[in-house]
Amino acid sequence: MRILLTEEQIRQRVVELGARLSHEYQGRPLTILGVLTGSVVLLADLIRATNVPLRVALISASSYGGTRTSPGELSVNSSLVPDLSGRHVVILDDIFDTGKTMVGLLDAVQQFGPASVKSAVLLWKTERTCVDLVPDFFGFQIPDEFVVGYGLDYNDEFRHLPYVGIPDPDDLHMATGG
Ligand code: 5GP
Ligand code: MG
Repeated sequence: MRILLTEEQIRQRVVELGARLSHEYQGRPLTILGVLTGSVVLLADLIRATNVPLRVALISASSYGGTRTSPGELSVNSSLVPDLSGRHVVILDDIFDTGKTMVGLLDAVQQFGPASVKSAVLLWKTERTCVDLVPDFFGFQIPDEFVVGYGLDYNDEFRHLPYVGIPDPDDLHMATGG
């Protein structure tokens, strides 16, 4: 595994993001909507770095019919989403790759009638982005490499790693039980 972002780099950047959110949402009712499952590590750290009253909620999105590198059609499950009317929502995901997931989520969340909706991600693969949208808040711009750790998985493994790394073929082989 090659480490792309260390635990310390991530910690510092998450503190900065929390400060930005605190500034932007001061005096406004904020709901941070974490996207399952990849955002959970970031969600836990970011909410503790954010110093304004806020609510936490979860939404799930998955693409089906896709491959590891090209997502299929997006299915959004918003059964866990609480009342968002009148609230300022930040959709929080692990990574903004093509951007299609975030576009679908923004669309789905608008239907709940929030006061505003913005997007936040830890990682942004700028070279891969193919939608007419950029994340409102992001931690790091990264190259077009498959990464794991700090919430990001391969076959549901590696989410617990405290850093973001680029796995070797051997790491991936082990994660598939081979
Ligand atoms: P998008 O719709 O922006 O293309 O893709 C977003 C989703 O693809 C992310 O929520 C994540 O599940 C997955 N994804 C994209 N790139 C990576 C990556 O490098 N590593 C991992 N583990 N997942 C990725
Ligand atoms: Mg995801």
